[in-house]
Amino acid sequence: MDFRIFNDDSITAGFSRAPQTAEEKFEELKCGLSDGGRIALMHQVHGTKVVCITEDMLKPWEMVVDAGECDGMVTAIPGMVLTSRHADCIPLYFYDPDKDVKAVSHAGWRGTVNAIASVTIETMKSVYGCRPEDIKAGIGPGIGRCHFEVSEDVAAEFREKLPWCAPMIDKGQKPGKYYIDLKEINAELCRLAGVTDITVSPVCTYCQEAECFSYRRNGTKLRHLAYIK
Ligand SMILES: [Zn+2]
Repeated sequence: MDFRIFNDDSITAGFSRAPQTAEEKFEELKCGLSDGGRIALMHQVHGTKVVCITEDMLKPWEMVVDAGECDGMVTAIPGMVLTSRHADCIPLYFYDPDKDVKAVSHAGWRGTVNAIASVTIETMKSVYGCRPEDIKAGIGPGIGRCHFEVSEDVAAEFREKLPWCAPMIDKGQKPGKYYIDLKEINAELCRLAGVTDITVSPVCTYCQEAECFSYRRNGTKLRHLAYIK
């Protein structure tokens, strides 16, 4: 049973639950594709490039679409499943039921501070004509403020690039350490882009040892699969 980020009759925004790995979930979704369905993956590099998955990228004989190096994907192709991989980094889900456009992004601290949430919404607007007020956004399970401790240079980058996020940064236990609320900063980026329908998962992947992989907790190589279908 996966985590469900938001429910809409026509869409599922999910996040696999440990011990199932991203690879296992990917195979399960691939096997469950309907006729002509496709599943897309990306090679995540902590950047802000968002790729549009379009008809010309599809090969008739391949069910898997490789979007290459990027951290976000958007599509309007029916039956397309978009996926990303996570172990603490925040998954972002977007769906516009009016235009039937969906997107997924990967927001670690670099993607968050460089506003991949805004880039993804902007792509939905400029390429697909989506209106922010029609977009549903989901901020999925990821590392919470309780466990995302960073040093001064990271906190300073947030203060410099996103000056409004100061209330989402707390002083840590030790001098020069800070706790940052990545989920709330991503939610605010969505609000600033005009999106009002935002669901934020309360699940901290570090805290939820039984159900989540966490790179920060134990350096795991295992990942969750975030998907929208
Ligand atoms: Zn936590």
